[in-house]
Amino acid sequence: MNTKDILNKNNFTFKKKFGQNFLLDQNVLNNIVDLAEITKDTLVIEIGVGAAALTKKLSLKAKNVLGYEIDKTLKDPLKVILDEYENVDVVYDDFLNRNIKQDLQKYKYDNLMVVANLPYYITTPIISKFINEKIDVSKIIVMVQNEVADRFSAVIGSKNYNSLTIFLNYYFDIKKAFMVSRNVFYPKPNVDSAVVLFNKKKNKLKAIDENMFFLIVRKAFKQKRKTLKNNLKDFDIDKINCTLNKFGKDINYRAENITIEEFIEISNELIKQ
Ligand code: SAM
Repeated sequence: MNTKDILNKNNFTFKKKFGQNFLLDQNVLNNIVDLAEITKDTLVIEIGVGAAALTKKLSLKAKNVLGYEIDKTLKDPLKVILDEYENVDVVYDDFLNRNIKQDLQKYKYDNLMVVANLPYYITTPIISKFINEKIDVSKIIVMVQNEVADRFSAVIGSKNYNSLTIFLNYYFDIKKAFMVSRNVFYPKPNVDSAVVLFNKKKNKLKAIDENMFFLIVRKAFKQKRKTLKNNLKDFDIDKINCTLNKFGKDINYRAENITIEEFIEISNELIKQ
């Protein structure tokens, strides 16, 4: 029986609230798997298993696949679809509510990756969850709405460059890998998508006090039209100005024109006595 028949036999209905647009195109699925460069020592976390089109391909390359699926009505069809894929486990729960470290305990692996084709509104919370819970992932590959992809990989000075860009780029090298037409999904969504690759930074510049770094970045972008002089007035503004002068800039710049390295330097200077 093919996947469609299995879903029909189980009276499966697509649920918009879970962003259920299943990927059908074999080439796109293969391209995602190739991008991941999965080895036999890799544990892949897949968020949003759906009808397992991607899961099956991941399973053939990886040591194990740990999938999460919020829609419990997929449990019966997935039992049939994944019957022969013994290295796949699916947890039927909202990924955002999981204790990932605990879920990972039963696996042995050398390399951890995340692959996900998700509704756009949970992409950032999901990536932030890996960062906040200090889960050491080497790569994250996500399929998102095209505009969201642009925001992740935004360059300095562009309208999409914001505190999220800095937050994510602090941990990862991010690049939009390829675009995916809306026509390869069922049901067909209203927007085109893109696949974004997050590669863990190897020798990243580190802020001495990461909380201070993120606070400064958040405050600097608080009112986008305002300069650093306004947005950072609660901090030692002379110190900030001196630091920026080293880079040929000053407090009359806006946050959108400040690099990650410059923000790191500012936060490092501010914690010095
Ligand atoms: N991976 C499949 C594919 O590529 O065809 C399905 C992709 S579909 C865009 C997104 C899937 O994520 C749906 O099956 C949906 O039920 C699931 N999902 C949505 N929110 C979720 C969450 N918070 N935790 C786990 N799964 C979720």
